[in-house]
Amino acid sequence: MIQLYVPLNFMGFIYREIKQSVTDLEQMFRVLGEDPEIADDPDARPLAVSGGTIRFENVSFAYDPERPILKGVSFEAPAGKTIAIVGPSGAGKSTISRLLYRFYDVGSGRITIDGQDIRRVTQESLRGAIGMVPQDTVLFNDTVRYNVRYGRWDASDAEVEEAARLAQIDGFIRTMPKGYETEVGERGLKLSGGEKQRVAIARTILKAPPILILDEATSALDSATEMEIQDALESVARGRTTLVIAHRLSTVVAADEILVLEAGRVAERGTHAELLEKGGLYASLWNRQREADQARELLARMGEDG
Ligand code: ATP
Repeated sequence: MIQLYVPLNFMGFIYREIKQSVTDLEQMFRVLGEDPEIADDPDARPLAVSGGTIRFENVSFAYDPERPILKGVSFEAPAGKTIAIVGPSGAGKSTISRLLYRFYDVGSGRITIDGQDIRRVTQESLRGAIGMVPQDTVLFNDTVRYNVRYGRWDASDAEVEEAARLAQIDGFIRTMPKGYETEVGERGLKLSGGEKQRVAIARTILKAPPILILDEATSALDSATEMEIQDALESVARGRTTLVIAHRLSTVVAADEILVLEAGRVAERGTHAELLEKGGLYASLWNRQREADQARELLARMGEDG
């Protein structure tokens, strides 16, 4: 009994640790199998996606009952539209994506996709319908081709290469002597954060899910890389319901709606132009970031001159 208990308990610990980091969710589920905390409802049915409309209805949530994190969050991401979630660090942005992926169940309220409560559908069908581009992608110690094909195992070589092209990583891959057969990961070629993110985008293009969660990198990328990633993200988001967890505001300008989250509540919502006009929290976050970007550019230019 004790022997059995310890490893299970240990797995629970590992599971929580990984869940916390939200690195590569799909990989984690393959490695660890079923989620020990979230179970399928006995009457769970497969999710039937018509357009992929997401609704959060008065959702509250706490990791620890003493400390509420989301407090009555409501929004709708209509089919095919892009909703960006911005706000100060710790406001609960990534928590929203963890709840949509059903890493945790809501404390109260509900989340639906095309009218179906996500607690009443099978986890497999839910996660099959959602593509996640995480901040930090885990690569396998295998070839580039294998790492991209991970998005859909039955994809042909031509489809893998087309996905890499759309994700703006094909050119880089072809500069390597072994091209798509280059080994990457711990024992092979180490890819930069931006390159890894483009591999994740290529995987998602292959998977072609109706719903996307893009968890933007927190760390500053150089502006050329950022533009390439931006183009790649736009091509993957086209026609899909997309939730962008934005840490850098420059990528949210074109979103159909921006939610500004502050201490677990939606403090403001609207388009970029509407929110700037309003002169509230979004406008001040925007101005602060623009100043920081300008300072960085100036420093970079001084570095070039000197
Ligand atoms: P950032 O922009 O810094 O990534 P965020 O808005 O995405 O922040 P979340 O990751 O959603 O913030 O976290 C919201 C709050 O919940 C934070 O205060 C965080 O410390 C807390 N939190 C996150 N995970 C847990 C957990 N497993 N247990 C307890 N508290 C947690």
